Amino acid sequence: MKIVRYCPAKSRKCGRLGLLVERPEGAYVLDLARARVWAFPGSRQSPIPNDVLPLLRSGQKALTMAQKVLDAALRRWDDLPFGVAMPLGDVRLEAPIGRPGKIICPGLNFRKHLEETQGPGAKPPEKPYGFLKAPSSVIGPDDPIIMPIWTQKLDYEVELAAVIGVGGTNIPREEALQHVAGYTILNDVSAREVQAAERQAGFLTLGKSFPTSCPMGPYLLTADELPDPHVLSMELRVNGEIRQQGHTSDLIHDFSAIIAYWSRMGLEPGDVISSGTPSGVALGREPDTSWYLKPGDVVEARIERLGTLRNPVAAPVG
Ligand code: MG
Repeated sequence: MKIVRYCPAKSRKCGRLGLLVERPEGAYVLDLARARVWAFPGSRQSPIPNDVLPLLRSGQKALTMAQKVLDAALRRWDDLPFGVAMPLGDVRLEAPIGRPGKIICPGLNFRKHLEETQGPGAKPPEKPYGFLKAPSSVIGPDDPIIMPIWTQKLDYEVELAAVIGVGGTNIPREEALQHVAGYTILNDVSAREVQAAERQAGFLTLGKSFPTSCPMGPYLLTADELPDPHVLSMELRVNGEIRQQGHTSDLIHDFSAIIAYWSRMGLEPGDVISSGTPSGVALGREPDTSWYLKPGDVVEARIERLGTLRNPVAAPVG
């Protein structure tokens, strides 16, 4: 399933739970709560919560119900009443997890990116060392990345993000992927001069966690459809020009390792753990600074099977 959060057209009721359905004539969003009432009227079967985070907290039973509703809708697509399925163009998608409990990002988890930022022959980190990105930095597809007034070095990083479904602490490596509910795209937007100063001081906070620095989406592909996340090509374009190309098979620490390691913090449903980014970031191009983002740019992060996460860059207002 491709789980989305969306706002219906001309409605302020955002954060509704839906499924992205691709049909020969176009893409649709199936409203899960409405489709459930239509597919199983009067049923006492477990209701489906109307947001992604409560859905994940409800566990496998709710996901199984969502799959049954989808199957029923696909079988009788032409019978769906008005308002149960909407053309994708008529709705606005939001980040699949609006406010994750935590967003954990490894740094330097692709060898070529390690070398472009730390120099040739740089030693890979022994553990998946990284940082927490603020949940308040999350935005959805097509939302603007607002360039802070205090940075001239706004950079992009396409990353694969695993969203935790079943929480746990001290998860063994061989069980780690069983804790993942699904996968989506994350753009780890960074302010490089701030990041460099913070790293020198031994910390990393503002340079990775300012408002709008964490675009996520467009949908959450459930893990039953992607049992191994290490098979996906990744790409990022700015204004249509390819900047990053990579593959999730090239991770220094794979998802089993990073989930097991960070589960020492205690993982909860909806927590996000990202892959790190492949080479091709603007920082790696220095001293040429022309690849840094500026207002008016359009950033498109693509991962095989996960679609395209597109965000324009905007100047701060006021
Ligand atoms: Mg990153």
